[in-house]
Amino acid sequence: MNAITTLLEKAKQFHGDICPGIATGTRMTIAAMRELGMNPLEKNQNLIVYVEIDRCATDAIQAITGCSLGHRTLKVLNFGKFAATFVDTQNGKAVRVSQLPKKEDQPTDMNELRDMILNAPEEQIIRIQEVSVQIPPEDMPGFPSRSVTCSKCKEQIMDGRDIQKGELILCKSCSGEAYYSSL
Ligand SMILES: [Zn+2]
Ligand SMILES: [Zn+2]
Repeated sequence: MNAITTLLEKAKQFHGDICPGIATGTRMTIAAMRELGMNPLEKNQNLIVYVEIDRCATDAIQAITGCSLGHRTLKVLNFGKFAATFVDTQNGKAVRVSQLPKKEDQPTDMNELRDMILNAPEEQIIRIQEVSVQIPPEDMPGFPSRSVTCSKCKEQIMDGRDIQKGELILCKSCSGEAYYSSL
């Protein structure tokens, strides 16, 4: 089996199928890791990936790299783009890969589209940029840099996500940023 087949199989096991997004995410991962001098067939301890979408491609990136939210090695900044930045935390090198704009004549059938993405020359489907990323210390893997208790709800807030309001230390929910409302 060649490398891409092995990687697609890993992504399929995690995601359920090999859809066009998985194909794109797999090719993005291959391109970015190559640029960083990393082997996508091996787990790399120094890799942190910022993904810009919560769709299929992200599952391919997670499945192949082993980067995950729980390990703090996968960061989701939802800009709604099929794009991701791969950072080597050892040397600070970072590469952003993104899907090039759709072609007008691209297949509408999902299987044909997937096959097109898998077989096209890389420069026709993926844009590669060398970039610089400053990862805040509180976002790095490892022990929490800060852990405090919310003055209002008494829940624990880690990693500097608390908000200081006068004398009070508040969680985001209590400071008015809640995404839910109590019933
Ligand atoms: Zn999918
Ligand atoms: Zn609170």
